[in-house]
Amino acid sequence: MRQHIVGGLVLQPDDGPGRSCDLVVEDGRIKDIVPPQTPVADACRVDATERLIMPGLVNAHTHGQMSLSRGMNENWNLELLLNAFPWLGGRRNPEIHYVAALLSAAELVRKGCTAAYDLFSEFPAPTREGVEAVARAYNDIGMRAVIAPMMADRSFYQSIPGLLEVMPEPVRKEADGIRFASHQESIARCRSILQNWAFDRTLIRPALAPTIPHHCTDEFLIACRDLANDYEIGLQMHVAESRMQSIVAPRVHNSTAVSHLAKLGLLSPKFTAAHGVWLDDNDMSLLAEHGCSVSHNPTSNLRLGSGVARVRRMLTAGINVAIGTDAAVTSDTLNLFEAIRLAALVSRLSERSNQLWLSAREALHAGTVGGAKALGFGSDIGAIKVGAMADLVFLDLSSGPLVPLGNPVNQIVYGEDGSAIKGVMVAGKMLYENGKHLTIDYPNLVQRARSLAEDLIGTTASLKTMIERFQPIVGQYCSGLVADAPAFEPHVH
Ligand SMILES: [Zn+2]
Repeated sequence: MRQHIVGGLVLQPDDGPGRSCDLVVEDGRIKDIVPPQTPVADACRVDATERLIMPGLVNAHTHGQMSLSRGMNENWNLELLLNAFPWLGGRRNPEIHYVAALLSAAELVRKGCTAAYDLFSEFPAPTREGVEAVARAYNDIGMRAVIAPMMADRSFYQSIPGLLEVMPEPVRKEADGIRFASHQESIARCRSILQNWAFDRTLIRPALAPTIPHHCTDEFLIACRDLANDYEIGLQMHVAESRMQSIVAPRVHNSTAVSHLAKLGLLSPKFTAAHGVWLDDNDMSLLAEHGCSVSHNPTSNLRLGSGVARVRRMLTAGINVAIGTDAAVTSDTLNLFEAIRLAALVSRLSERSNQLWLSAREALHAGTVGGAKALGFGSDIGAIKVGAMADLVFLDLSSGPLVPLGNPVNQIVYGEDGSAIKGVMVAGKMLYENGKHLTIDYPNLVQRARSLAEDLIGTTASLKTMIERFQPIVGQYCSGLVADAPAFEPHVH
């Protein structure tokens, strides 16, 4: 099928201001970019008058499963969030996974995301039904996704040296009773999932997410590395997200988390480190040397008080930087425009010189081209150019922050919150237009999400009560570790 997108102002953020031109799309790809009014034969016409057409945004780190737990985060830091995780993200069946992922995907689409890296967990190990439910959700709405089962073979409680020991009975026994499957079991299940992957990989592809380095034994990390190599898929992990993690890593690995991952051979261009707030200079050199990506998640880092990632330093080191929203319990809104804006703004906190602040162009590049690389889609997405997929966002040029149009990149990054979106297209197919989802029954989804969230309050109640008994001990122990540690020294040795 051939489409002719006419009358729009096309923005290629890396090539300066927008220009008036028409796009010829064939079988979902941009076949040609032509001057306005150029005749194109046998094409279905898409009117983009008064529209700014920009590349679809790419979200490099999210957890769709948490969309049903929205609003539950009571000023938690990362450790309290991880403590709450068993009830917050647990007791899920494939139907719940499907609805949660679809609710999240719908919000991403409405806010201009055309691709996302979704890490989701099942307890005690991933299941084929669970992974396929999440993949089906993205497939049904029609957006691109990388689906990574999030796994560990040590629980949060087992992963922090000394934590279980300070817990009094019977709390200690309860916390110690939360155990993941063996790494052999998780890996065997993932291998079977990968062997049977039924989705079109140009739209939905698998990856692996051993969640946090010190939550995984070396045997598990090595097995994930080998499985990812066997199937040529991506690996994503939460790395140096909180100060506490950066303190615990050397106690578990005798080195920083990144040095440990490098030693075990996990770092490669297919590796994405999420957050990376507490990476030292040597960590950044290692990530750069191995061609890795970092997903910078500033909304979540602020909400959890994790800190401000040193993104300028990452870019200078040569790391591919992408941007993620993280989950609905850590960012509250899955709005990548907002995360991109915050990425630009928080760089002003970590850098004194305005020469070192992230520019709007760099922030938008990370939210498009950087994300495309982290997700493994390369130059197929993230930019408007001949040969790339037609993953496009149509903004209303008469919307407040875009009037009058001076510098579109500045105005989008610093002013746009997604309100100007009039259309979102993936591979030439319109998924959302003029306030309506075209590929899913959104009102029905809302009803299902409400009803399942209500059910979950009941099915997770006893787990929640138990885990709330751990909370003060976890909070006190972890903040004690941070308080007793020497100041973070990023410029090392
Ligand atoms: Zn995360």
